Amino acid sequence: MKQSKVLLIYTGGTIGMIEDPETGALTAFDFDHLSDQIPELSRINAELKVVSMGMPIDSSDMNPMIWQDIAQQVVDQYELFDGFVVLHGSDTMAFTASALSYMLQGIKKPVILTGSQLPIGTIRTDGKENLITSIEIAASKDKNDESIIQEVAIYFEYSLYRGNRTSKVSAHAFEAFVSPNYLELAVAGVDIKYNSSAFYKTTLPELDYKFKMDDRVALMKIFPGFSTHVYKSMFDIEKVKAVVIESFGAGNVPNNTEFFKMIKNYIEAGGIVINITQCSSGSVSLGKYANSTMLKEIGVLSGEDLTTEAAITKIMFLLGNYTQTEDINRLMQSSLVGELTEYTL
Ligand code: ASP
Repeated sequence: MKQSKVLLIYTGGTIGMIEDPETGALTAFDFDHLSDQIPELSRINAELKVVSMGMPIDSSDMNPMIWQDIAQQVVDQYELFDGFVVLHGSDTMAFTASALSYMLQGIKKPVILTGSQLPIGTIRTDGKENLITSIEIAASKDKNDESIIQEVAIYFEYSLYRGNRTSKVSAHAFEAFVSPNYLELAVAGVDIKYNSSAFYKTTLPELDYKFKMDDRVALMKIFPGFSTHVYKSMFDIEKVKAVVIESFGAGNVPNNTEFFKMIKNYIEAGGIVINITQCSSGSVSLGKYANSTMLKEIGVLSGEDLTTEAAITKIMFLLGNYTQTEDINRLMQSSLVGELTEYTL
């Protein structure tokens, strides 16, 4: 089999950071610094090309324009490479992975996001293994010469996850990510053990990319004692087209008439409200408890088992690319690229 070609898309993140000698703060640095620290890159059994997305950034500065640039790179180079590795800060990696998965529907090649908790120049860095194994996964083909992974994924600390199922859960542990509601796609040990039954395989005949994202969205985390009044400007259709509510447990909110009225008026004015759980795993089940029945009645959508990252980027994507509210509502509650579990009743 011929050697695979992998495109490394460098955006920044801790992996390539160095310490500012004056302040001691970590600052993003260019790719040459990173490759100097990993001489093994030249021995990898894949042809590598590197492209940097402008100035490297801390992923706190990530935004939909850069998501579009990354997706555009993949589309432009799709025929030339067998796989893609995106080097990215871990802080917002789950958002980028989710956004890319929606933008790059129909993809039949791997897009693996990775990064690290410690910079590549530090002796205990996790960056080397993360990068080298990500490249190996991105280069891997089956006996029919097809990519093993054909979706957007995150590789971090020996685990490969579906990107739009992940959340960053630790600012400290090397195991920084979880996929609370979906199986791991692979685990790396002595060999990489792929869990092929968990893979997403598109039914689309070819890459169907859409890049527009609408940022007129908001996120509200419910807490006991919140004041409806404080959220008035969030439920204002002139400014905000959709609100994702992070509710308690299986989708519950306080039984607050004023709050229900505000949501009802907002939905009647054309707003979209999506209910996801603030629990770190599990699904919303609207109507299971009396405290969510009203939400269902006034037209709040169930975000099922979407993570916050997958929900917020999904509604940005749907608002950006679809005009009919019925389409957005339907697509929001169904799986586009394996980001939510569709329960059959
Ligand atoms: N602040 C860094 C970033 O997200 C953290 C990391 O890369 O782990 O860019």
